[in-house]
Amino acid sequence: MADGLQEINHHSLSDARVAHGAALDELFAQVLGVLHRHELITLERVTQDGTKVRANVDKSSFGRRDAVAAHLELARKHIAELNRQATEQEQVPQRQKAARKRAAREREQRLQAALNTIDRLQKEKLQDKAKPCQASPTDSDAQFMRTGDQGLAPCHNVQLSCDAAHKLIVSVAVTSEPSDAHQLMPALDRIEQQWSRVPEQMIADGDYTNRKNVIAAAERGVDFYGSWGALAEAPPAHGIAEAYRTSAFRYDASRHVMICPQGQGLRHKSTTTLAGGAREQLFVAPRAACQACPARVECTPQNQMSKHGRAVRRLIEDPNVIQFHAKMATAEARAIYKQRSPVAEFPHAWLKNKLGLTRFRTRGRARVKCEAILAALTYNLQRLFRLRPLVVA
Ligand code: SF4
Repeated sequence: MADGLQEINHHSLSDARVAHGAALDELFAQVLGVLHRHELITLERVTQDGTKVRANVDKSSFGRRDAVAAHLELARKHIAELNRQATEQEQVPQRQKAARKRAAREREQRLQAALNTIDRLQKEKLQDKAKPCQASPTDSDAQFMRTGDQGLAPCHNVQLSCDAAHKLIVSVAVTSEPSDAHQLMPALDRIEQQWSRVPEQMIADGDYTNRKNVIAAAERGVDFYGSWGALAEAPPAHGIAEAYRTSAFRYDASRHVMICPQGQGLRHKSTTTLAGGAREQLFVAPRAACQACPARVECTPQNQMSKHGRAVRRLIEDPNVIQFHAKMATAEARAIYKQRSPVAEFPHAWLKNKLGLTRFRTRGRARVKCEAILAALTYNLQRLFRLRPLVVA
């Protein structure tokens, strides 16, 4: 008779996690359907947040390209040697030969995967250029990331999208990218794929709040709330009087000039593209006009006027970014943003504290994603039973 509660060996459990990844995704989607049917998911307001979960890999297994490539070469020589021995050593059982070959092939594949990761990271320049890229053959998808305790450890970045109505997880992903900066649009893609629509509002912290995401969210019709400093005016050069700061200069679009407080036109000299994509135009006043100006000392105290008079920079920003900053300056937007932390951080804390998801038990993104989905599924089901107890009656 089949008996429950039997001990499952490690390999069976690990293999099941990967072999049934698609079924697990489907189960997660079906549970989302149940939650939606019980009107527990509205997609009116969704938060996005990531947390670093330690990878099941030792720091010392990470290597730079040269070291990994050298190990890969050795692994290939070892495979060639095993193939040669296989024909010579007739006394060694076939099973033993096959096991040795399989182990050698798996090692070669892991080293090749680590080398591919290093090449990809170097190409994408996701890491500090000064620091050579590294990867581990034990888990080529793990990367060093800052953890909550300010340490640096091999981790995977678990991304959760959480519906604010009842703090239910509507999307899960695992990425090797330490930064959250590029994770907002993939999260919207996943939600749209699952629900055939995007959330009305999306809230995320400063790690996600950048020019690219603000513009992309607006273009997709998502009302995005994030934490980003205001479009601050560059600090004035020392000695410039309040009345002659950059904000006191007016742009005249018909002549494409800036008009100074004394009515003098400043001509457009150059345009620079800033990091992030915004542009900055430089306008300069005629040297002779500033030399003769009665406000010269207040307006341009440090300018020796060797080439031109006062210089002023004008930021050319996308209208969506300007609107975002104007919106985030309102009390209403700030009140909405305040809801981010209690909603977004609750599921992460629950998964870590209640389910112990502080370190993955498996390796490789496919397996760790299955672990993350299982944890999110558990979280959603316990929320369902708490919110709708009659569902289980
Ligand atoms: S110093 Fe030049 S730019 Fe400044 S107020 Fe006078 S004319 Fe205008």
